[in-house]
Amino acid sequence: MSGERKTGLVLGFSERDCSFCDKIFLMEEIISLCKRRGFIYQGSEIYGGLAGTWDYGPLGVALKRNIIREWWKFFVDSRDDMLGVDAAILMNPKTWVASGHTTTFSDPLIECEDCHGRFRADKIDLDAGCPTCGAKTWGEIRQFNMMFETNVGPVRDEDSVAYLRPETAQGIFTNFKNVVDSFYPDLPFGIAQVGKAFRNEISPRDFVFRSREFEQMEIEYFIDPTTWEENFEKLLGLTHEFLSQVGLPTTKIHELEVPDSERAHYSKRTVDIEFDFPIGREELLGIAYRTDFDLKNIERESGKKMEYRPKDGSAPFVPHVIEPSFGVERLIMAILTVAYQEDKIDGERRIALKLPEHIAPIKYLVSPLLKNKPELVTRAREIYDNLKTTGEPVMWDDSGNIGKRYRRADEIGIPHCIVVDFTTLEDDTVTVRDRDTTKQVRVKIKELTNVLND
Ligand code: ATP
Repeated sequence: MSGERKTGLVLGFSERDCSFCDKIFLMEEIISLCKRRGFIYQGSEIYGGLAGTWDYGPLGVALKRNIIREWWKFFVDSRDDMLGVDAAILMNPKTWVASGHTTTFSDPLIECEDCHGRFRADKIDLDAGCPTCGAKTWGEIRQFNMMFETNVGPVRDEDSVAYLRPETAQGIFTNFKNVVDSFYPDLPFGIAQVGKAFRNEISPRDFVFRSREFEQMEIEYFIDPTTWEENFEKLLGLTHEFLSQVGLPTTKIHELEVPDSERAHYSKRTVDIEFDFPIGREELLGIAYRTDFDLKNIERESGKKMEYRPKDGSAPFVPHVIEPSFGVERLIMAILTVAYQEDKIDGERRIALKLPEHIAPIKYLVSPLLKNKPELVTRAREIYDNLKTTGEPVMWDDSGNIGKRYRRADEIGIPHCIVVDFTTLEDDTVTVRDRDTTKQVRVKIKELTNVLND
């Protein structure tokens, strides 16, 4: 990349001479902002880190929770055909025998015989040589199981082996009968779960994109097999609607029909929703028609019937399933790359995280114009305390000058900055500054919450 900093990557204020460099630059800027401002830190950083793990700081955890809350609201709370569960992460190992994970949940591992670097054979160009040292002396490709193994109980032997779940889906399938017995929902219905999943990825990479510990938001939507096509379309449509609600532009979202040769043998249709990340077009989430594969496996392994008794009295059957599977980290990364924008304000470079207001970690910043004027500080404190009682996330900032406070607020995506100045003392109005336009308006304090809610 040329020496001069490129600005306006998203807004297009400057010419790009190398889109590849720009993308790398954008990713690096986002990672650096995430660390600097307390969104995402490297896991166990203080001890040199642990590859593939990430810790969420105060703003990151707020952003993540907001995204999960919106997902749950959209797919569960606002619908009458979805129920939620929260299953244990440690499950009886038979779960993974039934699902096939113990035998088939593996990636092709290849080792460079020169530097002993290990890579996923399907993710690198073997002919181009080792990505670390350039040598072309490869060992044999072997299958590497990605489940993390542990032992349950005080005795470490074969019988105590258990796995950290590599997906949340099986915690839903294993509770299918429980939920049907408790609720007897009408078919079709979905069971949703949000939670941690663990995969011993061969090469964790690209920030949180490929982590070893991550979070999934999954739905198993149980259907009558004769209706699979319409239900698939319905869930695909809902998925697009949700992605646009969290601010992802349709131009960056692409459907990839996974071809027969790459689909799991039991799946009749799989669509990967890909996103134009700065690292390239990559899978954001997947939707798969999994037929009755999982429930039938559980029947076989547990000896218990997984049938659904239709309410019209017709013959019981094992429902088929359509599974939308979202990765929280990839969604966060997509949202951040869209939100991250640079422009120039009064000739100065500005970074703004233009997050949709409903997922922004902090909604309001309250500030007295001057820190050393007690009359301004007292009024600002009153407003801050009042906003706090609404339950909305509010931040206080009285350090540095007002320009610096605005820059900091823009960088962490606060949509509204409320400033108490000398005019406030005369007419009970405050300045409200909008993050995206930087426009300022004066608002009566007593109308503040109404105006902000509008
Ligand atoms: P990939 O092909 O990228 O390895 P996958 O097809 O194995 O992904 P799924 O098993 O379908 O992924 O998991 C569903 C979703 O979980 C993915 O679309 C992604 O959003 C998320 N996910 C999977 N693996 C990881 C990971 N290692 N780190 C972060 N998110 C992940």
